[in-house]
Amino acid sequence: MAKRNSLTIGDRTVAPGRRETVNLPVSVLSDHTPVTLSLQAIHGRTDGPTVFVSAGVHGDEVIGVEIVRRLLRAPNLKSLRGTLLVVPIVNTFGFLNHSRYLPDRRDLNRSFPGSASGSLAARLAHLFLHDVVARCDLGIDLHSAAVHRTNLPQIRVSPKNAQTMKLARDFGAPVIMRSAVRDGSLRGEAKKLGIDVLLYEAGEGLRFDELAVRAGVAGILRVLRSMEMLPAKGIAKPTATPVLSTSSSWVRAPVGGLLRMFKAEGEVVSKGDLLAAVSDPFGQTDAEIAAPGDGIVVGRAVMPVVNEGDAVLHLAAVQSNAVAQESIEDLTAQLEGDPMFDEDEII
Ligand SMILES: [Zn+2]
Repeated sequence: MAKRNSLTIGDRTVAPGRRETVNLPVSVLSDHTPVTLSLQAIHGRTDGPTVFVSAGVHGDEVIGVEIVRRLLRAPNLKSLRGTLLVVPIVNTFGFLNHSRYLPDRRDLNRSFPGSASGSLAARLAHLFLHDVVARCDLGIDLHSAAVHRTNLPQIRVSPKNAQTMKLARDFGAPVIMRSAVRDGSLRGEAKKLGIDVLLYEAGEGLRFDELAVRAGVAGILRVLRSMEMLPAKGIAKPTATPVLSTSSSWVRAPVGGLLRMFKAEGEVVSKGDLLAAVSDPFGQTDAEIAAPGDGIVVGRAVMPVVNEGDAVLHLAAVQSNAVAQESIEDLTAQLEGDPMFDEDEII
């Protein structure tokens, strides 16, 4: 077999079987501090697909950063076939400020494809798209809910591509949400280049969540296994089929006040079930919130102080409540007992 070529990225050349940290210059802060888009390039010994894993496109969604940290310690990566480009923090500016945005209040995930001469967000989007994403066959982009909200681990994919849907199922997150791409998003612009992106959403902004981290690490390893980039050993397939949802909506607070939540993410509810209640501080009024339809709770507010109209609970429609309940219980139990996470070297 012909020897594999080295990978050249930024100012680094990565030989087959090697891993290098690469710093791509983004800009210089007002105080002269240089800012880079930093990644690890893991270049397997043998030819195979190229995949990127990114986190921190929204700077306050730190759960993805922890998923990446654990992924990079996984011993399986020593046997990688193909190439993995792993970016722990895309939006360094937001990460440092504990903010979703860039300093100019722009949302990086609405700034793609960007341009080399545009705003700071546009320049960062352009660099990431051209120097990382465009080299790849597939991407996995890690997100969490916004601050003061949490999400049940879920994969969001574009509905069209059957191969991507298969990978979404192989990931093994409890729920797959088929959602259209947004203008200016990484997922949308990557698609125009022929690169599908699995978007993983799990946990809360600015917080860690052990189950959401585990589901992310296990899911990425499963996708790499499914693409034959990693050997099967030590990577368990999901014990149940993830629940598929094609529509979802937010249930909102009918009045402002103090929110008591009676359902958690992952719970299956039927139309009319009591989900939450909002009271005034004197306890004289109590507005109950009932489920507008059947479905599964895929996200919810964690802040108990709400204004009228605030999003309280994200409900995804499913084909069968009973099947959804069973799948979610199986997949959650598998993550809780996964021997992969007993090993000190991963945690
Ligand atoms: Zn996000």
